[in-house]
Amino acid sequence: MSLPLVVQKYGGTSVGSVERIQEVARRVEECARTHRVVAVVSAMAGETDRLLKLARALAPDPTPRESDVVVASGEQVTSALLSIALHARGVAAQSFLGHQIRIHTDSAHSRARIRSIDSERLFTALDSGRVAVVAGFQGVDEHESITTLGRGGSDTTAVALAAATKADACEIYTDVDGVYTTDPRIVPHAHKLERISYDEMLELASLGAKVLQIRSVEFAKRYSVPLHVRSSFNGHPGTWVVPEESNMEEVTVAGVAYDRDQAKITLTAVPDRPGLAAKIFSPIAARGIVVDMIIQNVGADGKTDMTFTVPRLEVDNALRIVREVAREVGAGDARSEGDIAKVSVVGLGMRSHAGVAAQIFETLAREGINIQMISTSEIKVSVVIDAKYTELAVRVLHDAFLGKGEEAV
Ligand code: ASP
Ligand code: MG
Repeated sequence: MSLPLVVQKYGGTSVGSVERIQEVARRVEECARTHRVVAVVSAMAGETDRLLKLARALAPDPTPRESDVVVASGEQVTSALLSIALHARGVAAQSFLGHQIRIHTDSAHSRARIRSIDSERLFTALDSGRVAVVAGFQGVDEHESITTLGRGGSDTTAVALAAATKADACEIYTDVDGVYTTDPRIVPHAHKLERISYDEMLELASLGAKVLQIRSVEFAKRYSVPLHVRSSFNGHPGTWVVPEESNMEEVTVAGVAYDRDQAKITLTAVPDRPGLAAKIFSPIAARGIVVDMIIQNVGADGKTDMTFTVPRLEVDNALRIVREVAREVGAGDARSEGDIAKVSVVGLGMRSHAGVAAQIFETLAREGINIQMISTSEIKVSVVIDAKYTELAVRVLHDAFLGKGEEAV
């Protein structure tokens, strides 16, 4: 019988200095006494940004293929450093770059998707008693070019390796203690969740709770890889992200998230006829701009208004496209507004508890916060509000659904 297999992923702050890398080596060594260990590392904190800046200092829009070669080097360094640190402790270890394992991806540089993974070389290392230290975030495409998986992509490397090797667990070590009911900087009595379902985590992650790359959660869900998100700075148990369990619906709300990186575009007097929404949103999608909420009013006099949100960084591009379409189809005026925030309440229990939306609206109304847009899914209610009320909205919603905490009682 071989030892249980665990994939451990260490984020940028966890490997951010020589001392931190030594601490990670200590943890890996401890785990390796009773497990086969695959350790996936990020670049040292700040390194990816620094490398991107170097490339951009030479060209505003660096060649994607070469830019990936540059940024992937951050993880090359940490994978070898951790391996060296393990050797220094007398632990057998071997570093692997994406192309050495062979993590095959498509060719979408800077946001490549994993297509398949050969795990043979990993198993050769593991079976001969070595720790496999893998450079996260990177892969190789069919042209033998290095690719990267998008910011935060080491999470996805770890989950994909856990799926490919059928690991017994996937631990994501980071600089926070786990997934919280909301941002503790806004609500000091926010508490750590013990368990959360993939779907709740996906909603929270896409809403700006940036603990895990969204793709890694999608991957984990698809292959039922249980994730344990925990701190590398202490030994506390973190948050398990797991398949839905039968009692999870008992908790109405798992968390309150916010996102201040969106902007709103409103287009007035759109002719109310078939094909118009497609005309507006197809060219936006073609630019790779992700549209989040969309609201279209009931038409009056053959015209309707349309409002939607896009990432704030893309708002000028989106607005330009919308104005062009508006001219073409004889719609009215298009304008954008950046000072907005999306605040969302997420929980599996919403499926079976009535009145959550009403309670959200009442809670905001009591504070005089105006709701500009609303969208709902089975397990989420999101509202767009004036950005200046973000903290207040998060606080009152958290208190309404997740308790006021001892200090506030
Ligand atoms: N180093 C990459 C980034 O900063 C990937 C990762 O850390 O997961 O986005
Ligand atoms: Mg990260």
